[in-house]
Amino acid sequence: MEDPQRVPSPLSDKYECCEIVERHDFAADLWAVRIRPETPFAFRAGQYATLGIALDGRVLERPYSIVSAPEDPLLEFFIERIPGGALTPHLFPLTVGDTLLMRKRPKGVFMRQGLARDRVHMFVATVTGVAPFASMLRQLQICSDPGEEPPRVVLLQGASLSPEFGYREEMSSLAESSPWFDFVPTVSRPWADPDWDGETGRAEDVLRKYSDRFGILPGKGMVYLCGHPGMIAGARSIMTRRGLDDSEIMEEQYWPEGKEPTGEG
Ligand SMILES: Cc1cc2nc3c(=O)[nH]c(=O)nc-3n(C[C@H](O)[C@H](O)[C@H](O)COP(=O)(O)OP(=O)(O)OC[C@H]3O[C@@H](n4cnc5c(N)ncnc54)[C@H](O)[C@@H]3O)c2cc1C
Repeated sequence: MEDPQRVPSPLSDKYECCEIVERHDFAADLWAVRIRPETPFAFRAGQYATLGIALDGRVLERPYSIVSAPEDPLLEFFIERIPGGALTPHLFPLTVGDTLLMRKRPKGVFMRQGLARDRVHMFVATVTGVAPFASMLRQLQICSDPGEEPPRVVLLQGASLSPEFGYREEMSSLAESSPWFDFVPTVSRPWADPDWDGETGRAEDVLRKYSDRFGILPGKGMVYLCGHPGMIAGARSIMTRRGLDDSEIMEEQYWPEGKEPTGEG
């Protein structure tokens, strides 16, 4: 690998070099980093950045949803290492003081329309798919006018095991202090997580139950799906059968359906 500290010069108009200033590991293959952009990086909650490393004179890069609120001067990412993946095995060893490359512009239209006050918003994530929702929730806390409650939001996050939620403490504590927000973490392998006493099943398996509970209905609810393509396909079809139309179901798919990792590497 080339020195990731250096942006290859023909690429310097597109990329900047960002220092990792914090790292937090949630589980063996799941971690968060906070990086300092060289120049202020304006984005909307729900957008993603393109992160990479220099390799053989090129940049090996992938999109990563931004966890931090747009108001935060540092950018935060929640990343899963994919065994046999091209980039994440290179990102995984990087720690505080190391650098990575980032495209200078954010991308993405997920959640671009903001959250209407007259709807209940159901955020559905698998593992790292919580990232854009965390950004939106952090922004709602920072930017809501005093005395004005943010729109009603429910976050349903699925994971195999509870350590994979990553932001569980933050989300649980927000739910405790905020009448406008509920957090439902659900574990799909409870037999391997004996201390787990919360919801069980995959996110799409419990979606109908929580859509009933929180009134996610045509004209009244909005659903945002992020992460695993299987969850997105399953949840979309449940919501379509419920009568929600395409304008009421938003999605951000992290990889193509049917393309699972090989587990090698
Ligand atoms: C808009 C967008 C936002 C994204 N945000 C995030 C994020 O916040 N955090 C994050 O960790 N990833 C995110 N991803 C996925 C990320 O871009 C990479 O695809 C992922 O990190 C794997 O990169 P890789 O080069 O190591 O593996 P690759 O060599 O690209 O892929 C190896 C195989 O793994 C599959 N795969 C990719 N991601 C996963 C996954 N999470 N679980 C299982 N299989 C997978 C691929 O389809 C492929 O078959 C996002 C993707 C998109 C499109």
